[in-house]
Amino acid sequence: MRKPKFIFVTGGVCSSLGKGIIAASTAAILRSGGVRAATMKLDPYLNVDPGTMSPFQHGEVFVLDDGAETDLDLGHYERFIDVPLTRHCSVTTGKVYSEVLAEERDGKYLGGTIQVVPHITGKIIEKIEAAAKHMKAEVMVCEIGGTVGDIEGEPFLEVVRQMRKKYGAESVLSLHATLLPYLAASNELKTKPTQLSVRELRRLGISPEIIFLRADTKIPKKILKKVAYFCDVDEEAVIPAETVSSIYEIPLRFQKFDLGKIICQKLGIRCPRFKLSDWEKGVERMKKASAEIIIGLAGKYNELDDAYLSVIEAAKAAGFYHGKKVRIQWIDTERIEQNDEDEWEELRRVDGIIVPGGFGNRGIEGKIAVAQYCREEKKPYLGLCLGSQIMAIEFARHVLKIKDATSEEFDEEKKSRHHVIHFIPEQRKILKKGGTMRLGAYPCVLKKGTLAWKIYREAKISERHRHRYEFNNKYRERFEKNGFLISGISPDRSLVEIVEVADHPYMIGSQFHPEFKSRPFRPHPLFRDFVGATVKKEK
Ligand code: GLN
Repeated sequence: MRKPKFIFVTGGVCSSLGKGIIAASTAAILRSGGVRAATMKLDPYLNVDPGTMSPFQHGEVFVLDDGAETDLDLGHYERFIDVPLTRHCSVTTGKVYSEVLAEERDGKYLGGTIQVVPHITGKIIEKIEAAAKHMKAEVMVCEIGGTVGDIEGEPFLEVVRQMRKKYGAESVLSLHATLLPYLAASNELKTKPTQLSVRELRRLGISPEIIFLRADTKIPKKILKKVAYFCDVDEEAVIPAETVSSIYEIPLRFQKFDLGKIICQKLGIRCPRFKLSDWEKGVERMKKASAEIIIGLAGKYNELDDAYLSVIEAAKAAGFYHGKKVRIQWIDTERIEQNDEDEWEELRRVDGIIVPGGFGNRGIEGKIAVAQYCREEKKPYLGLCLGSQIMAIEFARHVLKIKDATSEEFDEEKKSRHHVIHFIPEQRKILKKGGTMRLGAYPCVLKKGTLAWKIYREAKISERHRHRYEFNNKYRERFEKNGFLISGISPDRSLVEIVEVADHPYMIGSQFHPEFKSRPFRPHPLFRDFVGATVKKEK
């Protein structure tokens, strides 16, 4: 295989510019022309991975097939380039340091002084190269988290400089995204922060060759010219990145400015024809979506879209599939618990309910009440991981009449005798050494004739997990006899993976997280038919 080429995406002026989307769109454009592009994230923070970070601070944890717990940007990457990524595509300062320090203890650097340059930067380069190799990438798009000027980010920027030395100027391309602030008083978008950010990059030995300008309003041509002039980049390489209504329009927007061609020229690769017709069709369909479907999301982090990013994206994609716009209505299960009439009214108004994944006790009784309401009123319900466990607990309590049924997770004091959801330590040893969560992709076989089987139209599937607790097999028979079907199980039959309520238009729960495998123009079947059921019910 030929040596890979590298594109680095940095951000300046402020955070939340959507660098992840820019990186993902760049790779998507290249792939549409048949260039094998992949994406990775370099995060300057000290956590070894985002697995332990609060969704309040960092949004959802995106899980890959191989079980890596990664930044939500990897979700964008997978949704945009539609290729499964690997753990090599997520690198943090914490991971880099912990490896270097472990090697130091092992005596690898005996006698030497370990330094940020060259040891930490060398390790980062090793990791970028490993990711490119594992992804078999011709072009590896590397997004550097944070903002230029952050103390933590400097080693990564130094890496860009070193990579250019190592691979040559034609093989390493630097993209920089910045904000153009708008001043109402002068009715102007200002370019000075961009100039300063580029100056800072230059100080570190990096000359950005393509600049993306973020703004909420239309960017006049003269501003693009000005940035080109002051930042010393080609005029055609200043790409406006104005806020759009859907992020999936972005590859099309960028391609209007010939981004694919500009990159290929700069990297010295043959410029293919970029075929974005799938994107065009998909975006067209999104724009045409008419009536609104209201989906209730009964989670824990209310109003925090990022904490449920993949779930929301999957629900929206399912809506577009049916020609509908999905509006998310947050359902506060703590208020449901307190019998807050307004919150119950909201619940009654939604067309369907998703109970997403989650950990801990908060709002659990409210979630059980939501499940009961959906079962009894035949309202479409989709339970994701925790949501499927809730479904089982509710059914046990109200149909099987096991009054104290619960999950071991919610019963630290072991007051209940009926853990219909429990922790199986033995299984953990077989499946995963050390860690206590079942993480990553596992196969699941579907039972013929069930709703799950009809939805997937496949006998064997593979889905991604992230949880500790499992359905308690002791209760399987009782559940099944009473109309709670176990429609998906692990191939060795030991683990329950999908459950559904018979005699209900759509009440289904999965122990795994289908949202991670949903795609913008190809919604995951569980979401697709969930929204389909709400549309039917509406009629
Ligand atoms: N807390 C539950 C468990 O650990 C569910 C986890 C989840 O929803 N991801 O099994």
